[in-house]
Order: sequence, then C-alpha cells, then structure tokens
Amino acid sequence: MKRGKQVKCSIYGLTMNELTEWFLEQGEKKFRATQVWEWLYQKRVQSFAEMTNLSKTVIAKLTDAFVINPLNQVIVQEAQDGTVKYLFQLPDKHMIETVMMPQEYGVSVCVTTQVGCNIGCTFCASGILKKQRDLTAGEIVAQIMLVQHYLDEKGQGNRVSHIVVMGIGEPFDNYNNVMNFLHVVNDAKGLAIGARHITVSTSGLVPKIKEFADNGLQVNLAISLHAPNNDVRTSIMRINRTFPIEKLMDAVDYYLEKTNRRITFEYIMLSHVNDRVEHAQQLADLLKDKKKLTYVNLIPYNPVSEHDQYARSSRNDVMKFYDVLKKNGVNCVIRKEYGTDIDAACGQLRSKQMKQSTTN
Ligand code: SAH
Ligand code: SF4
Repeated sequence: MKRGKQVKCSIYGLTMNELTEWFLEQGEKKFRATQVWEWLYQKRVQSFAEMTNLSKTVIAKLTDAFVINPLNQVIVQEAQDGTVKYLFQLPDKHMIETVMMPQEYGVSVCVTTQVGCNIGCTFCASGILKKQRDLTAGEIVAQIMLVQHYLDEKGQGNRVSHIVVMGIGEPFDNYNNVMNFLHVVNDAKGLAIGARHITVSTSGLVPKIKEFADNGLQVNLAISLHAPNNDVRTSIMRINRTFPIEKLMDAVDYYLEKTNRRITFEYIMLSHVNDRVEHAQQLADLLKDKKKLTYVNLIPYNPVSEHDQYARSSRNDVMKFYDVLKKNGVNCVIRKEYGTDIDAACGQLRSKQMKQSTTN
C-alpha cells in the first residue's frame, strides 16, 4: 500500500443490495451482483481475475474499486482439541484475532469487531488496548472467509456453520458495521449461515439492545452480566455506571417482549469476586420472572497475566453456584473451554504478540 493512496475497501463488506446498487451506478446489469457473490461465497475465489463469466471491463472496474481480502495472516495456532487461532494484520498494520472451534454440530468461528475495546472490563485482555478503530463490515466478513478458505484447503468439505461475535471489541459500539456483517453472512445468496446459528455478545449497551430487538434479525443475543448486583458489577465492569443492572434488565424485558427469543447471560466465574452462594441466589432472584426465556452460561475464567488480581473459581465453588441456580429453576450450563493450550481467551494471542514486538 502506497502512502497517501486511499485504501480500497473490501467487497466482502457490501450487502447484496449495496453491490447491486454499485453495479447499477456503473451502468452494469444488476445480475452481475449475483454472479460476483457466487464467485465470492460459493466458489470462493480470491481474485477478481478468476471470475471468468465477467467481462474484462467489469473485472477492471471491480479491481479499481475494491480488494477481496483485506487481511494478512500472521500466525495460525492449532490446539490439541482442534481449535485454531488466527492472528490477522489489517491494512493499517493493526492486529486482530479470530478463533475457529470445531464442534460436534459443525464449525463455529469467533470474530473480532474492533481494534481494542473502550469498555475496559477489569478482567479482560481485549480492553488493555483502548479502541484504536472500528473494523469495517468487510474486515469482519473476511475473518469468516479466511477461516472458510483454511477449511477448503484441508479438503474435508467442512463449512463454517456457526458464528459467535465474541472476539475483541464491543459489537454494539460498532453497530452499523456489525449489522452489515450479519446481513452478508446470513444472506441466502452468500454463505447462508442461519441467523439462529449466530450469537452476538454485548457488555450491555442498553440503547443498542433495544435497537437490536427492533431490527427483526433472528440472531441470538448474549449479555455479559458477570455479576448479580451493581456493587460487584461496577467493580469489574465500568459500563455498569452508565447502564446499571436495572436499566439493563429493562432493555432485556423490552427485547424479550419484542422478539420472544431467548437471551443468554454470560457469567465468568471469578474466585471470591462473584462466585459465592449468595451471588447465585441474587442471580436467580434477578431472573425469576423470566426463567423461560433466559439461559445462564457459567464460564471458566481464562487467566490474563495483566489482571493477576483475578483467579478462576474452584470446581467446588462452580458446582455449588450451579446447584443454587438449578434449585431455583434457572436454565444453566457450565461452558466447555476451548484451546486452553493456545491463549484462546479473547485478546490473549494479540496481546502476547504485541508484547513480544515491543520487547524485541
Ligand atoms: N464485548 C463483548 C463481546 C466480546 S467479549 C462482551 O463483553 O460481551 C466475549 C465474552 O468473553 C464476554 O462475555 C467477556 O466477558 C468474556 N471474557 C473476556 N475476558 C475473558 C477471560 N479472560 N476469560 C473468560 N471470558 C472472558
Ligand atoms: Fe470489551 Fe467485552 Fe472485553 Fe469488556 S469483556 S473489555 S466489553 S471485549
């Protein structure tokens, strides 16, 4: 990339409607958009020149306006359980990470939505670096495509079937790009990943939870709750000062009423911080009038070296917590961990890589 030259955006970021519009503006037929999407998402070519049913002029116009892949693969780490972690470099040299987790039911990918995160939760590796910028929709779709290319090269016919928006960044702080990303991957003409197979996780940006409820996409919502009362939540999640639990629960009620879809609450088990039996009881009380439509995911904490004030809860404490929730009729699971041998918690590979590059 030459200095001063404008970086071309990735064609992966355009929805079918946007690409159709673009072709019409170029004086081309609108079915060109369908043809290009077939090349991108079914045949999965990596250059415009390979799109052999397009004329040379159309290929030249595309090449002039867009790139296909905006990411440069820097590191790929494969864990014993099959989890693969990718470190990608963006055109402006920032690093992001993506994780692929093979499951019994398919292949799940965890994507990053921002470079860094401004929410600053005190247990999280992603928040160590303040947000440098939002990712474009194309940069988010490209993460899925690069994983799909990786699977294609293995030749076992595997497809990315599930997506979790749980990598670095707060997706609702980059709302429009994340929505465009969701439209692209969900579109039946593209990757056609079912909305019910996609989950977006938020730290609790109340106005955006309501907007998300209104937008009609059938994508699942997860909320990082991590504490059953304001004192504990504020001590680990600064955002709780702006959107305390009462406001969050108002937005949850709005979402449930509007969509009638289940919400997952994520709850990281931090030893002696939020893992006491009384916390479990408070959590059950908080959810008591919405047990049918809520689900609690108890997550083992992935230790982050910069946050050594936190430790993982003991197995015994997790079980006691779980039992209280169950006794109160709360739907609850203890989440399995993935790729513990490869820094699988969000932001960990990237933060390690950055430390190495500043100490070298
Ligand atoms: N910003 C969004 C999505 C990305 S974080 C959010 O906070 O929901 C995805 C999930 O990973 C969140 O539930 C987050 O709290 C959790 N998480 C962050 N750091 C973690 C760690 N070290 N161990 C386990 N889970 C962690
Ligand atoms: Fe940001 Fe989510 Fe990490 Fe909080 S947990 S700092 S919101 S990425």
